[in-house]
Amino acid sequence: MDFSLQADPPGIGAFRKEVRGWLQENMRGSEGLRWSATWSTRENEEEYRFRRHLAGRLGRKGWLFPMFPAEYGGAGLTIHHQTVLETELAEYGLGLNHVFYTIARIVAPVILKWGSEEQKREFLPPMVRGEISVWQVLTEPQGGSDVANCQTRAIRDGDHYVVSGQKVMVGHHKPPDFLWTLVCTDPSRPRHENLGWLHIPANLPGITIQPMYMMMGLKNSVFFDGVRVPVKYLVGGENNGWRVANTHLELEHGGEGRVGVDPLIERVVEYCQKTKIAGGPLMEDERVRDTIADMMIELNTLRRFNQRNYWHRFTRDPHPYGGAQQRYFQRMMRLRNGERLQRIMGCDALVQDLAVHEVVDFEYAVRTGPGQLHGGGTLDTDRLIFARRLGLGRPTKEQAPETI
Ligand SMILES: Cc1cc2nc3c(=O)[nH]c(=O)nc-3n(C[C@H](O)[C@H](O)[C@H](O)COP(=O)(O)OP(=O)(O)OC[C@H]3O[C@@H](n4cnc5c(N)ncnc54)[C@H](O)[C@@H]3O)c2cc1C
Repeated sequence: MDFSLQADPPGIGAFRKEVRGWLQENMRGSEGLRWSATWSTRENEEEYRFRRHLAGRLGRKGWLFPMFPAEYGGAGLTIHHQTVLETELAEYGLGLNHVFYTIARIVAPVILKWGSEEQKREFLPPMVRGEISVWQVLTEPQGGSDVANCQTRAIRDGDHYVVSGQKVMVGHHKPPDFLWTLVCTDPSRPRHENLGWLHIPANLPGITIQPMYMMMGLKNSVFFDGVRVPVKYLVGGENNGWRVANTHLELEHGGEGRVGVDPLIERVVEYCQKTKIAGGPLMEDERVRDTIADMMIELNTLRRFNQRNYWHRFTRDPHPYGGAQQRYFQRMMRLRNGERLQRIMGCDALVQDLAVHEVVDFEYAVRTGPGQLHGGGTLDTDRLIFARRLGLGRPTKEQAPETI
């Protein structure tokens, strides 16, 4: 594994030039947009339209899922091409996973692994081309971290499942095309063997979506009231939902990896060089420099965890505890960074700056610290997975589920 990721391998330099030129052309018109981060309180119609349009254009080239086979809408390229796309998009504060509001980045690989050939041919191309938006619909009011304690029932009735139940804290501010959902298909079976995974068209009768306003932005409750879902939407087979869930959760919980760089630190340095206090730049204060050094060390450590997991994922050799380790470290680092920014900037760190991309907005970073401790499982979930994968408290080490 090459950690440097500085020089492109032979033949890839030309691709980088092509992508850079393409992005210069296709990001035109985005300069004045109010850019938002993944979980946001500042989404707006103009930005949303731009992102969807960009996703469509990237998708038509196969560049949203560059390594996916062409028959499912991908470009059939290599990890080096994907790395180029990720790093060039990062220059605009975006990642492939974040070009438009959808959880497709996780759903598509899970369908690739668990879907039947028929399902792959029907479900993947529109998703991979960036034409549809999918929400991840897992959390239930009584379940929370205990995802397997799923009470939303999907009982088979002929060629349909009849789905009834409630999910909470899901989605975002724009309506979805599909709901990617864990359901209980057989309440009489033991835990983990009683679940199914449904890819539910969001326009079916009996689905109600109700907004929930949260610190990190708009989420929703979804109510299923006797929704008749054709059986072709069951992914992974009868009562096999927990295994599908494991692939999904491993990707969500850090196993996906990442190569983009977090741009926050550059803005912090710039701010401290330009902002004067008592006649001199903030950067001349020894304590400020120490704090920035701590931030840099942790951001670089996180970058290495991300790169390592990215590499393990694409070599189909999931790191046993790498996902949970990365996620725990990231959450704790963001919490500490929120405190550090307030220490450096005082009240300035609490004022939104809509002129900058939200990923480098100090107020967002401060809010994200505590806000992200609770999304996609909690710190306790991270610790639990980490411990099990290390073999702590159990006779055998738990394996990482296979990802794709
Ligand atoms: C910003 C945000 C975005 C989200 N987006 C989505 C989404 O798109 N889709 C979706 O399905 N869900 C989403 N969620 C929900 C999220 O997955 C849940 O909040 C999370 O799984 C925790 O569940 P809970 O909130 O019910 O807390 P609980 O599980 O009730 O946890 C409460 C407390 O108990 C602790 N705890 C729980 N179990 C254990 C244990 N075994 N050992 C020790 N301590 C434990 C927890 O750490 C926590 O401190 C989102 C949440 C947030 C905050």
